[in-house]
Amino acid sequence: MTDLFWTDWWLPVVAGPFVGSFLGVLVTRLPAAEPVIVSRSRCPHCNHPLGPRDLVPLVSWLAGGGRCRYCSRPLGVFYPAIELAAVGVAGWAALVVAGWPLWATCALGWTLLALAIIDQRHLVLPDELTLPLVGAGLIVAYLLDADAAVGHAIGAVAGFAALFVLAVVYERVRKREGLGLGDAKLFAAAGAWVSWSGLASVVLVASVTALVVVLVRSVLGRRITADERIPFGPYLCLATWLVWLYGPLMFG
Ligand SMILES: [Zn+2]
Repeated sequence: MTDLFWTDWWLPVVAGPFVGSFLGVLVTRLPAAEPVIVSRSRCPHCNHPLGPRDLVPLVSWLAGGGRCRYCSRPLGVFYPAIELAAVGVAGWAALVVAGWPLWATCALGWTLLALAIIDQRHLVLPDELTLPLVGAGLIVAYLLDADAAVGHAIGAVAGFAALFVLAVVYERVRKREGLGLGDAKLFAAAGAWVSWSGLASVVLVASVTALVVVLVRSVLGRRITADERIPFGPYLCLATWLVWLYGPLMFG
């Protein structure tokens, strides 16, 4: 099975920039409830329609020196950065996973990348991404090991329930929303992929990483105010990715 052409490691890496290009459009339009079509269509500055030549991932941006070909204004690094990140996800996955699960791992990584960016920018985790991720995780778990699939289903339910209860308690105590239902659905997806036995590791890795980032920010002089909402989604995404690739933390 692993010697089939379509499971070669380099294929998802080559697909990376194109997937990244799509993700760039997705993370821009999904929170704005705009229709997601396959390519962005106009220069944001001069509104000039962009043709296929302008939309080759990474290449067009590099060839134009990061500027629009029509009005010469800078296009920003958002699109090339997410295209590079998508390549990075595929390359990282290919180092750890082989065979058809490589594609499943890339799909997980690319979806988590989109979720992390959307939550960072808009403080939402769209159902359009979290819910399919729950289903995909359960299907992949079943295909990998049908006997273990029940544990993954329990993980999905337990993941949702745990953060849902936490969110309700937090809201009662602090009188404001801390964790959203989006976090609970993302944690359900984590449970579907890493099984119930991986959930504790996901929470631990996510919390420690979030804490380190908050500490570093406060050392750099950017203090967190009590009203500021820090998205937890990006940390849950990173932690889910790490636990999926390398397994739960070992204690003792
Ligand atoms: Zn332009």
